[in-house]
Amino acid sequence: MHYSLDALLVTSQTITVATVTQFATGNGAAWLDLLATLRGRYRDVQIDQVATPAALRAWLLANGLEPTGAVAADDVERTQSVREALHRTTVATVTGRKPARGDVRLLDDILAADRPLSLRTDTGALRLRRPVNAAEALARLTRDAVQLLAGPQRENLHACGDDTCSSVFLDQTGRRRWCSDERCGNRMRSARIAPASAAPTEGSRRNTSPSVVDDASPA
Ligand SMILES: [Zn+2]
Repeated sequence: MHYSLDALLVTSQTITVATVTQFATGNGAAWLDLLATLRGRYRDVQIDQVATPAALRAWLLANGLEPTGAVAADDVERTQSVREALHRTTVATVTGRKPARGDVRLLDDILAADRPLSLRTDTGALRLRRPVNAAEALARLTRDAVQLLAGPQRENLHACGDDTCSSVFLDQTGRRRWCSDERCGNRMRSARIAPASAAPTEGSRRNTSPSVVDDASPA
């Protein structure tokens, strides 16, 4: 699922982001990819990829969680609040700090909307019942998140090696350094090799594949 933003000119940093065409994937879980929908969390400029009901529905659809009911503006606000609480809680977990009490309370509240999973075979393949609304979709994501954060698998969570990138990913090998080798890995390697020319030109950005088209956008 692609979600396009119109051309965006950020004058404070003179960064032109032509398009943000793709939601982040590859962090190891849908909820970790949700954390990455706020690009530039640690930078001066942020782009929120789920800032409208349509964008949130598109993200949920892309992650197999499209609800049967409508997605409204308050669902967007709830998602953004939960995403940031989950991000703070995840960073606290990765860095060995105690999560904030308010964030834990918020996550507990969201979990109250969770419902049992049930299976469907009407399309031939096994699938889960769709969430009835965005709150249930968010609760499923939160369930996955807290099961990982509160269990032994949390040892396999790692912050991206680019400390201006806020992404966290799951890696059992202990060898992976970047949330995206194409984006953060290339950026860090380029910065080391040629600091003066680290920023890609507009032309090079336009010629990149969709997965790295947002190279210059906040990650
Ligand atoms: Zn990264």
